[in-house]
Amino acid sequence: MINYPERLNLAQTPTPFYPLERLSQQLGGPRIWIKRDDLTGAATSGNKIRKLEFLLAEALANGCDTLITSGGVQSNHCRSVALLGAQLGLKVHLILRADIEPKPVGNLLLDHLAGARISHYSVDEYRSLDKLFAQWAEHYAGLGSKAYSIPTGGSNGTGMWGYIAAAEELSEDFKRNAIMPQAIVHATGSAGTQAGLMLGCQLHQINTWVKAYAVCDNAAYFTHKVRDDLEQWQSQYSPETDISGLIADTCDDYVGPAYGVADQEVFDGIKQVAALEGILLDPVYTGKAFFGMMEDIKKGKFSHQQGSDIVFLHTGGLFGLFAQQHHLGY
Ligand SMILES: *Cc1c(COP(=O)(O)O)cnc(C)c1O
Repeated sequence: MINYPERLNLAQTPTPFYPLERLSQQLGGPRIWIKRDDLTGAATSGNKIRKLEFLLAEALANGCDTLITSGGVQSNHCRSVALLGAQLGLKVHLILRADIEPKPVGNLLLDHLAGARISHYSVDEYRSLDKLFAQWAEHYAGLGSKAYSIPTGGSNGTGMWGYIAAAEELSEDFKRNAIMPQAIVHATGSAGTQAGLMLGCQLHQINTWVKAYAVCDNAAYFTHKVRDDLEQWQSQYSPETDISGLIADTCDDYVGPAYGVADQEVFDGIKQVAALEGILLDPVYTGKAFFGMMEDIKKGKFSHQQGSDIVFLHTGGLFGLFAQQHHLGY
């Protein structure tokens, strides 16, 4: 029995889980299943809402009336916080990284619609992110408000619970379909999904391989970040849990030119999967990870054995697609 902390019911779960038969056949490798966490909501869709069920429960339990969080201009996490904050009647302040005044498109448009207060900082200023959080928290304290700070991506010991719970949901999906996949594949950016899934698989005794595809940074960065998040979770919630066997497995071969910048092959993959399976991927996260998975299937990095299964966790990101429409050639 796992003792979950307090949680709000915000996400539309369980999300659908089913095989992509046409794509699997076209690639000639393992059967690819998809876990549709891009359907956890409409405007609040994606992986961040699962973490926010636990983070926002903590914010309310602490009597906070304001949320402060951070990310890139097209952050899916910031968009989720902006909308969920509005839903719960909390003020939201977003600390966004941008060197030039960004266009209010995609996620940023929704941040504005949700009434979030937005502060932009240059890449250089953003390096002192901890100080910016502290300054704004102090600012709100001075106004008689109580701010709750959520780290980038909602990735910390508390946010990780979202994907510990998602692992439990996946174990039900696997049982119902009588499969035990060789791997669960997903995009990693701030590592909370990765750390949560890894720990969740251990806690729920799911014997599979959590394979993350980096969309920024390198594999060593994720090894450390996952370890930090796991240690924070352990000290906060469960000192008796042994986490020593949890070593991140991150592929950084498909990061591409930079965070948020993808090669043409990723955009081609997005078009291929949309037309073949009706699944929309995004250019920042899922498009890179899905492309990497398809390449690695072709290279034989996953078992091709008859009846072998692999799961792609679709973490959302749809609105990022609208911010990069020009790269799709339309
Ligand atoms: C944030 C995000 C990820 C990565 O999740 P992390 O927990 O930050 O590593 C993957 N896909 C999408 C669409 C995201 O918004």
